[in-house]
Amino acid sequence: MAGQYGDQPVVIIDPSKEQTTGKDALSVNIASAQAVAKIVRSTLGPKGMDKMLVNIMGDITLTNDGATILDEMDIEHPTAKMVVEVAKTQEKIAGDGTTSAVVMAGALLEKAQEMITQGVHPSIIIKGYIMATEKALQIQKDYSIQVGKDDREMLEKIALTSITGKASEMASAHLAKICVDAVYAVENEGKVNVDDDIVIAKEIGGTINDTELINGIAIRKEALHLEMPHRIENAKIALIDTEMAFSKTATKSKLHVDSAEQLLDFKEQEKANFRQMIQKIIDTGANVVFCSKNMDDYAFHFFKEAGVYATRRVKDEDMEVLSHSTGAALVRNVQDITSEDLGFAELVEQEDLHEEKTYIKGFKNSKTMTILIKGGSEHVTDNVERVFDDALHVVKSVFEDGTLVAGGGASEIEVAQKLRAYASTIGGREQMAINAFASAVEEIPRAIAENCGFDAIDTLLELRAAHGNVKYGGINIATGKVDDMLNMGIVDPLRVKTQAIKSASEVAVMILRVDDMLRAREQAMMDVAPEHNIHNYDMSGMM
Ligand code: ADP
Ligand code: MG
Repeated sequence: MAGQYGDQPVVIIDPSKEQTTGKDALSVNIASAQAVAKIVRSTLGPKGMDKMLVNIMGDITLTNDGATILDEMDIEHPTAKMVVEVAKTQEKIAGDGTTSAVVMAGALLEKAQEMITQGVHPSIIIKGYIMATEKALQIQKDYSIQVGKDDREMLEKIALTSITGKASEMASAHLAKICVDAVYAVENEGKVNVDDDIVIAKEIGGTINDTELINGIAIRKEALHLEMPHRIENAKIALIDTEMAFSKTATKSKLHVDSAEQLLDFKEQEKANFRQMIQKIIDTGANVVFCSKNMDDYAFHFFKEAGVYATRRVKDEDMEVLSHSTGAALVRNVQDITSEDLGFAELVEQEDLHEEKTYIKGFKNSKTMTILIKGGSEHVTDNVERVFDDALHVVKSVFEDGTLVAGGGASEIEVAQKLRAYASTIGGREQMAINAFASAVEEIPRAIAENCGFDAIDTLLELRAAHGNVKYGGINIATGKVDDMLNMGIVDPLRVKTQAIKSASEVAVMILRVDDMLRAREQAMMDVAPEHNIHNYDMSGMM
């Protein structure tokens, strides 16, 4: 972590403003980073509040997902942007825990500010924070619990903890079960590729409880003609990524004709060419054709005659998924199509002739699954999609790593207490910084308690006092008392917690290293900017 920026001071340049240095610059940076933390703090934990995001078009997003909030907000201050980047990194590496990371980063900076005011130099704080980070990761690891890959019950609890507070309580168990089923279904040699192998589809109608896991893919399309086959076993699939319309081809070409017969000949010729193009596809042995663009009546007539299922205007993202899972190539030049371009599925089926839905199931080299989200409105289905986004990743993390920690603030109390013990063995000013780090980690249980409406100080005192006896003691959100989180099934992946500490500490240290914000002339800008990659920050919001 320290290595990335070495010991060089990082310089941020504001092309339009006077120079600000030292304490002043740092205070401004700290304040703006804290402002970001404050925004998401009230969303943390199962009782966190939602935020309503309204964009310039008036579209509304209701969410309490930290990453989404930060992603959609218009943040301009460069250090605030650094915090947003941290949230993104957290999301990418751990898939959950973004709010925690940002809240901790804010607390680390708040404590740093206090120490700076008391005359502690930022470099000492940085040193203490780095020592504390390493120690904290070790403490978390020692505190973690092993989980077997076949421990379905525990994996469902992991999913549930991530979902709690983000979807209706009644639906949560159902969604958690789907997460675990999906992860088991696409698992490949102990690894899970959530992004490629689990497709999320949304449908308005029904309730969240109707959300289902489909073995394969479902696309919202039907065969173009009732007489086409609607159930194809051993499907050989062609993906055509170009328009298949005769009229189009004909009008595109310029020609010079002298007589009516000649024109007729020409049209006949064009027709024959087009017919031959369709035949090319049929000749590959394809019995299913998905076309991403238009396909005219003339074209699908031939497919129908040949007993081929064909459909048109398939969405680009569906074409991508079809290509990934069936192994078919996206064909742009139909003249060159061969049987090599075809993909395979054990079954392609439009179950209901009157419904625009076709299932593609049973692949050779991939195990794509689809989670079909149902819900009464787009707000509902969008929210459930974000829930899955987090929950699938936490299940993946624990499935792959085999480690989890007790949630509800339990692991944070453990880290804080052990860090304080460690600090006392260090002494000096670093001790202050390590103790500050411990308090920053405790911001998580503090915020969870506050967001539940409990007295944060009382809760924290009780958690600390009980921790010696109840190893996995965390906040019972129903009572405000300390309970065994492991017994209650409130658990988080170790990966999420580890990454949250790393991310928070990393951004805090980065911000503490900045001791200069200066007005740069062109030359100076050229000198410093590229190395630290900060030249592209929008500085307009600064000071
Ligand atoms: P993040 O973006 O950091 O994941 P969340 O809003 O998802 O933020 O809150 C996660 C925190 O809430 C974790 O510390 C987790 O242990 C805690 N948590 C989740 N469910 C419960 C629960 N039922 N009781 C107590 N704590 C919970
Ligand atoms: Mg979460």
